Amino acid sequence: CGIVGYIGNNDAKEILIKGLEKLEYRGYDSAGIAVMNAEGVHVFKEKGRIADLRNIVDTKVAASMGIGHTRWATHGVPSVVNAHPHQSTTERFTLVHNGVIENYELLKEEFLMDTALKSDTDTEVVVQLIEIFIKEGLTVEEAFRKTLKLVKGSYALALLDSDNPNTIFVAKNKSPLLVGLGEGFNVVASDAMAMLQVTNQFVELMDKEMVIVKQNEVTIQTLDGEVMSRAPFTAKLDA
Ligand code: GLU
Repeated sequence: CGIVGYIGNNDAKEILIKGLEKLEYRGYDSAGIAVMNAEGVHVFKEKGRIADLRNIVDTKVAASMGIGHTRWATHGVPSVVNAHPHQSTTERFTLVHNGVIENYELLKEEFLMDTALKSDTDTEVVVQLIEIFIKEGLTVEEAFRKTLKLVKGSYALALLDSDNPNTIFVAKNKSPLLVGLGEGFNVVASDAMAMLQVTNQFVELMDKEMVIVKQNEVTIQTLDGEVMSRAPFTAKLDA
C-alpha cells in the first residue's frame, strides 16, 4: 500500500520506518524494510503494526540505503512470508511492490516452472523474473526493463541489487511513485508525505519509466532507454 526508499549518508532504518509511519493512515496488514551495507542486504518484516516492525529491526545494523513497504494484501494472506520485501532465490535481488500483477500466473508458467517460490504473492514473480534474466546474461538494467515489458497490471516498484550497492532501481505503472531530491541523498516515496521529513523537492514519474536512483544522481529513462529530464516540484503538507 505504501513504498519508501532512501540512499544517502544517514541511518536508513530510521528514515524508512518514520516514512512508513507517515503512510500508516492508508491502512495495511504488514510491513517491512530492507537495508543494504557492505555485508549485504538485511530484511526485516512483520505482520501487524509498524511499531511491531520497529521491535524486530536489529538496531546494530548500520546502513545508509534501503527500501520499505506497507502491504495491503491482494494475493496471498497477510503473513510474514507474504510481507514485502521479497527476495529472489539467490537473494541477490530485493523488491517492494504496490499494486497488482495481473498476469503473474502466466509469467510463472512461462518462466518460473523450475523456481521454488517462497510466497503466495504476485510480487515475488517480478523479483524472480529479474534473476532469471540475469542468469540468461542480461545486465540488471536490461533484466529489469525486460521484466517491466512483460508484466501487466499496476505497480510501483523499488528494487535493490546486492551487486550494485549504490543504486535503487525504480519503476511505476498506474500506481503512484515519486523520487525526492536532497543534498547528498535521494529518496523514493509513493506519497510525498512519507519523505517530507527529509526533503520537499520531488520529481513525478510517468507510467512505464525506469529510474536509477543513486546518492547524488537520478536518471529517468523510458523502457526503450531514452533518457528523460524533468524538473522537481515543491511538495507542501496539506493543512
Ligand atoms: N499485490 C501485492 C501483494 O499482495 C502488493 C499489495 C500492496 O499494494 O500492498 O503482496
